[in-house]
Amino acid sequence: MNGFAYHTTSRVAIVTGASKGIGHDIALRLADDGLDVTINSRNLAELEVVAQEIRAKGRRVLPYVGDVSDEEVVKGMVEKTVEVLGRLDVMVANAGTAVVSRVVDMELKDWNYCMNSNLASVMLCYKYAARQMIKQGEGGRILGASSILGKKGGPEVSAYVATKFAIRGLTQCLAIELAPHKITVNTYAPGVILTQMTNVDALDKAYGGTHGAFTKHICGIPPEGPHSSGDTVASLVSYLAKPEAYFITGQSIVMDGGVVMS
Ligand code: NAP
Repeated sequence: MNGFAYHTTSRVAIVTGASKGIGHDIALRLADDGLDVTINSRNLAELEVVAQEIRAKGRRVLPYVGDVSDEEVVKGMVEKTVEVLGRLDVMVANAGTAVVSRVVDMELKDWNYCMNSNLASVMLCYKYAARQMIKQGEGGRILGASSILGKKGGPEVSAYVATKFAIRGLTQCLAIELAPHKITVNTYAPGVILTQMTNVDALDKAYGGTHGAFTKHICGIPPEGPHSSGDTVASLVSYLAKPEAYFITGQSIVMDGGVVMS
């Protein structure tokens, strides 16, 4: 048995960083899969546009504005989701940011900003989602955003890389802790996805290409190497969020066009 109850009411997901990029594509895919969705970012106007897209698919949506590195925001987001949408079945801790600096030039404030934005935010989403799912007693799915830069290092992005490695470790620990509750915990680890995060015009040109070229340089990929859109990530998340994915936990699954193989 998969240990995940099938409901007559809709399953409910939270997607952080859902106003654009990978989070946007994940939120729409989960809505296509029949889930009601809380969408989060720090920009209400952008969230309202995504909310309309989800409503147009016939799903319920709760836009929730706030910085997910703030514990009160994450606690409130989970509570409001349960109050408005009724429950929580899937948490996608997707929000993240990139800090570019060599270690020898690192400012502690930039390091701490990256740790809070990328790592503390994921820990908080994991913590409050897990509490709610344990309370419901019907299993669940928790996902975090790692990266191929959570599997291998690269130049100029050590703070970012450190958070993405740490998210893998955090995910393994929570997967072990939550196994008795039939809650799976995994990360997706994309290669270069063409989003706002990877669109750094001057650096892209400096590294011999267009959108994504600098990110490819960091990842050890030539400018003509593989990249994709958020759809490829959303497809994997869609599967991992499903009841049938009950046998996959503690994993960080790469989708990068074959750069990192395991
Ligand atoms: P993006 O286009 O820059 O979008 C990031 C999203 O996160 C936005 O909605 C942003 O909205 C939100 N956000 C950032 N910090 C936040 C915070 N503290 N609280 C709430 N919302 C926050 O990035 P992306 O490329 O889609 O990346 C999404 C995730 O995938 C990130 O964790 C990233 O590290 C990871 N990833 C990306 C790639 C890639 O190639 N793109 C590869 C591997 C992993 P606001 O700024 O308005 O709040």
